[in-house]
Amino acid sequence: MSKKGKVEIDREKCKSCGYCVEHCPQSVLKISENYNDKGYFYAEQVGEECTGCSICAVVCPEAIIEVWRG
Ligand code: SF4
Ligand code: SF4
Repeated sequence: MSKKGKVEIDREKCKSCGYCVEHCPQSVLKISENYNDKGYFYAEQVGEECTGCSICAVVCPEAIIEVWRG
């Protein structure tokens, strides 16, 4: 049975560094085509294959990714 997870990213605090995108083993994060109030293109979850591994949350320098496991 595979683990399911999802992430919530505080997009208004994202600085668009892309670390979470680079490090996600499931490649379910990407930089959006939309930007936040500060003008940064924010990261978002785009796929359903998140396992809840929390790597993205660990590498995010802004500590704005919350991981949920179900
Ligand atoms: S918790 Fe893991 S699988 Fe899910 S988005 Fe973050 S790095 Fe990717
Ligand atoms: S690691 Fe954090 S700050 Fe960088 S793009 Fe991802 S959510 Fe944004």
